[in-house]
Amino acid sequence: MAWSSILDQERVVGTLRRALEQERVAHAYLFHGPDGVGKRAVALELARALECPEQTTEACDDCRACQKTRRMVHPDVHVHLPHPWSDEGDRDEEDIGTRIQRLGENPYAAVDFVRRPSLSDPTETSNKQVQYRIDQVREDLIRPMSLAKGEGQYKVNILTDVETMREEAANAFLKLLEEPPPKTIFLMTTSRPEQLLPTIVSRCQRLRFDPLTPESIGSALVEREGTDPDAAAMLARMADGSYSRALDLAQNDALMASRELVLDYFRAAYSLKVDALDPCIQEITNQGREQVKTVLRLMLRWVRDLMLYRAMGEDAPLVNVDQTEAIANFCDRLPEADLKAMVELVEEAVHLTGRNVRQSLVLTTLAQALYRTMRGATVKSLYVPLPDAELQAASRAY
Ligand SMILES: [Zn+2]
Repeated sequence: MAWSSILDQERVVGTLRRALEQERVAHAYLFHGPDGVGKRAVALELARALECPEQTTEACDDCRACQKTRRMVHPDVHVHLPHPWSDEGDRDEEDIGTRIQRLGENPYAAVDFVRRPSLSDPTETSNKQVQYRIDQVREDLIRPMSLAKGEGQYKVNILTDVETMREEAANAFLKLLEEPPPKTIFLMTTSRPEQLLPTIVSRCQRLRFDPLTPESIGSALVEREGTDPDAAAMLARMADGSYSRALDLAQNDALMASRELVLDYFRAAYSLKVDALDPCIQEITNQGREQVKTVLRLMLRWVRDLMLYRAMGEDAPLVNVDQTEAIANFCDRLPEADLKAMVELVEEAVHLTGRNVRQSLVLTTLAQALYRTMRGATVKSLYVPLPDAELQAASRAY
């Protein structure tokens, strides 16, 4: 497989292959870009190429070193994840071995403690803070560096979600980056490079990762997961360029139910009736923050489908192909609806769910704002006070 296992990202892979060929691999890389587009997969593949003594620019997939890197048991390739910590300052790392194994089996799978607090139950959510703290940097990075080099050609440290490193930890790590031990390489991944200390960013060679094309995601789902081609095409369009998200969606039996919830929610927002809206919001929030996000993302797809249908009618390449009738109905009944404003409001709600805001409040406020935009009113933000007397009467119940 080697580099051919990487979806898209030709520019990044080309840069790294040239660096390998010319033996000019940097001692620190920062792979940045959206979630689920292959930053960890590329980091692992680069580590494998570096450890393989048989070939220069990619893993031969056959030698002892390659067998070890594939099984994630190579003594010189270390994958670090930010950990959840208890109030007493202990880190929870019970199943870290299983997580790393799973990453080896599929480097696009979600294994981090934020999106997968429980490996066995993908719907479980956690409010624990997940971070790299100084203890972890000392024990896992600084101390092993002082030991002699193992059997590999390089010591490779892959640090995922590196923006979660606390400042104290980052300063300790910075010392390693400034004076890296020989033949030591740090591969860092992040989807939020702006949250990193500038002193760390400036020590790295930065490589930007782009969202994947729906075509690559679709064919990977068919070839690697055995997904039915029609379902794969739909999931690929829903995944927003992220193969990890496509995998989540493909394995998520609740997805279809969530799509129904979106439709219920829009109907309830249209009428703004408490007896319709309340149970719907409760059902969405019951399953935790990640479920709220999933439903909001599905909402975005839904409103974009409305835009497409309004512009192109029956020829529109809808994501929710099977809901064409509901989409057509909505467009007919609400010709005034400000769809662009609706997209922005839902995006704002997605943003708010990541903050310390009560999820039901976000969904209630969003429904009130959608009620107005569906009737052609301009609502620029979920925070705008609602002057309409009738609407206030309707919303008093919340
Ligand atoms: Zn090899």
